[in-house]
Amino acid sequence: MLHLYNTRTKKKEPFIPIHDHHASMYTCGPTVYNYAHIGNLRTYVFEDILRRVLKYNGYKVKHVMNITDVGHLTDDADDGEDKMEKGAQREGKTAWEIAKFYETAFKSDISLLNILEPTIWCRATDHIAEQITFVKKLTEKGHTYTTTDGIYFDTTSIPDYGNISNLQNQTLEPGTRVALGQKKNIHDFALWKFSNTPKNRQMEWIAFGKKGFPGWHIECSAMALKYLGEQFDIHCGGIDHVPVHHTNEIAQTESLTGKKPWVKYWLHGEFLVIDKKKMAKSGENFITLQTLQEKGIDPLAYRYFLLQGNYRKQLNFSFSALKAAQQGLQRLKKTISDIPPDTVKDVSIVKGFLEAINDDLNTPEALAVLWKGLKNNLVTKEVVMKFDKVLGLKLLHQKENTQNLPKQIEALVTQRKQARKEKNWELSDLLRQQIIDQGYVVEDTPNGQQIQIK
Ligand code: AMP
Ligand code: ZN
Repeated sequence: MLHLYNTRTKKKEPFIPIHDHHASMYTCGPTVYNYAHIGNLRTYVFEDILRRVLKYNGYKVKHVMNITDVGHLTDDADDGEDKMEKGAQREGKTAWEIAKFYETAFKSDISLLNILEPTIWCRATDHIAEQITFVKKLTEKGHTYTTTDGIYFDTTSIPDYGNISNLQNQTLEPGTRVALGQKKNIHDFALWKFSNTPKNRQMEWIAFGKKGFPGWHIECSAMALKYLGEQFDIHCGGIDHVPVHHTNEIAQTESLTGKKPWVKYWLHGEFLVIDKKKMAKSGENFITLQTLQEKGIDPLAYRYFLLQGNYRKQLNFSFSALKAAQQGLQRLKKTISDIPPDTVKDVSIVKGFLEAINDDLNTPEALAVLWKGLKNNLVTKEVVMKFDKVLGLKLLHQKENTQNLPKQIEALVTQRKQARKEKNWELSDLLRQQIIDQGYVVEDTPNGQQIQIK
């Protein structure tokens, strides 16, 4: 049975979804004012593994990811400039152009890392009405107050702010970084900010009688509510979201719906660090996936590097470790392509793999099980294909695809391509079986069908 570490209870717990056979998850998406750095991407790879493990366990997964294209200020606790407007100034473009450009860049990054796209993408700027309604309802219920600067959530209006979640509330210390200003209490946070500057903001909307824009936390709550309902299974993000962003999401959403808990399982990924320092967009140690590619690193080698670490532990990045991972992945693929055709699968390996991934996504152990199986000749290519549904390393992927195949196999592959184009899944499955019966395995990848001899 799948067990996950729940930040809310600080325990590894069996995963029991709200609705049988279904898993609903919300993952906080990128703030699209710059390229994602490879630390950010670590978080998305961990979430992708989670999603794939859920699927491997037979759950139908509904996965929602937002795009933060407004409202995220340079300080998480409602101070500073809007990151989007700042990005626009930096590049001499409009905030809308910046958002579009970096959203596309992000989608390209995740595709290179073989991260599955969410079931639903949602942009904050496409859900302004939902956010305004959310704030209005909170006001009706007496949870807000207005200052000249915006509409704030009154954290003393609920008995258990911070405790609601049990999320490391000892780290709730924005008071050390934020002046109280007109806020009544140090932890109160902006639901909606008024523009309040002589210069027009590029992203602003008329609401509550003047120009303004949403706070960062409200967008995730409003979109999760819209697409996943009042209660759902899993919410994820990086570890830095625990003390402010997720604590505030919980406070406002549970206040609105009156239902607890809003989310059953909270999962957080630890940081990628360089020399013990967190990789950050504001820091000098900002490395992108493009930088890796320019240095001859395959993005999937970076994925392999990440899977060698446990998502709940900090991972130290270095180019030498990454190069070793690239060699490791190449060796793994070569070993797999050399699997003798008469190999018989051993169920203990399949069991060991499942136990590893179901133990709170223990990918280092899952890789160790795979290596052990390969060394002892206990793994077939079909088993590798199954494991790769979780690992997402394209382990059977060969550069050449339908070339050098016997004519009859090539014909079946071509027919299957057509069947898939016409969404004739029954015929596609029939043709797949015929290909398998003739001694080949077929894998569907973003680059089309990949065929290998069994
Ligand atoms: P952002 O685009 O800044 O909103 O961040 C996107 C995601 O990356 C969030 O879930 C952050 O918690 C996460 N994150 C930020 N820095 C790191 C890091 N150094 N390592 C891993 N995840 C990070
Ligand atoms: Zn969020």
